[in-house]
Amino acid sequence: MIYFDYAATTPLDDRVLNAMLPYFRETFGNPSSVHRYGQKAETAIEEARETVASILHCRADEIIFTSCGSESDNLALRGAALTRRNATGAKRILASRTEHHAVGKTAIQLEREYGFALEWLGVDEYGTVAPNALLKSINAETALASVMYANNEIGTINPIAQLAKIAKANNIIFHTDAVQAAAYLDVNVETLGVDLMSLGGHKFYGPKGVGALYVRKGTELIPHNTGGGQEYGLRAGTQNVPYIVGFAEALRLAAEERGQRIAQVQPLRDQIIGRVLEEIPDSKLTGHPENRLPNHASFVFKDADGNLLLQMLDAAGFACSSGSACKTGNPEPSEVVAELGFERNWALGSLRITLGVDSTPEQIDSFLKTLPVLIDKARKLRN
Ligand SMILES: *Cc1c(COP(=O)(O)O)cnc(C)c1O
Repeated sequence: MIYFDYAATTPLDDRVLNAMLPYFRETFGNPSSVHRYGQKAETAIEEARETVASILHCRADEIIFTSCGSESDNLALRGAALTRRNATGAKRILASRTEHHAVGKTAIQLEREYGFALEWLGVDEYGTVAPNALLKSINAETALASVMYANNEIGTINPIAQLAKIAKANNIIFHTDAVQAAAYLDVNVETLGVDLMSLGGHKFYGPKGVGALYVRKGTELIPHNTGGGQEYGLRAGTQNVPYIVGFAEALRLAAEERGQRIAQVQPLRDQIIGRVLEEIPDSKLTGHPENRLPNHASFVFKDADGNLLLQMLDAAGFACSSGSACKTGNPEPSEVVAELGFERNWALGSLRITLGVDSTPEQIDSFLKTLPVLIDKARKLRN
């Protein structure tokens, strides 16, 4: 079996696991306890926070550890929207149409249950949010905008620094979901200029079930978990010490090895994109041709059922993904792919191949031999 689904999750790096293990065993104290067991656990968390802060180029007290990328998105949006409205009365929220559901559904909830007005930011044919689109949508009522750094389904990288600059000039809070981006892109919040940024450990060879939110000093949030004063009062609950240690080690390694990791996957990705478009009739790339994650290839194939294709690929030994939210018998094209303007008979045939540390040229060769045959089969079965 060959794994081509690193955008869904990555395996845990052994070095990360080894860094975590002592915190399951001997260093098990509650970081809030006064005694030495507690102090050791607290020190581990504070070292992890320093590590993350040094990679993000921010202060340690601007990092909030959470239970996952989704939680970071929830805390950012709900927390900032509510405080902003309390402070200024602003009640409009802007979010791009291609956001992950962790942002999109939170924004929808804020509209339906909390009385905010949600406005979606349109994207171009590649799924990019143009700075001008943000500028045009901002008015005096706008509280915050959320635009993802890199898209999980189509790989497109948004011009975050430019977008954040516009937000700042207009005095609105800017959040970016960098959960998919952090494995390969620079997450320096000074150059990005964002107020809030979400990260999730399991997208860069860290453990699942741990994330972080960068909160720029001065950005007030309402805590979404109330209780003890952990995480500067923003996220109550005894911290998951081993996972936080693992998160920091995984992010440290991602930053340190970024160049090597890109050099490994990018030529393989380019080979997939080039050969698929050349060899498979009625195939199109989804997402941006250049401004895309270096490990990410995504396509639509006309008149092929994406779900069927995934099953056939799985049977042939390849674990891939589609953007489609299809359930058996009720195929619906992915909202993100549909947003790019593809017709239904194209959008239903989406396929995502995402590469990582274990990807090799041999795997790509074998995949590129199999894929055209399976697409041909899927198309025949559909007709
Ligand atoms: C995976 C992902 C999330 C969710 O992260 P979890 O840690 O799985 O909750 C959010 N946004 C994007 C862009 C993602 O790729």
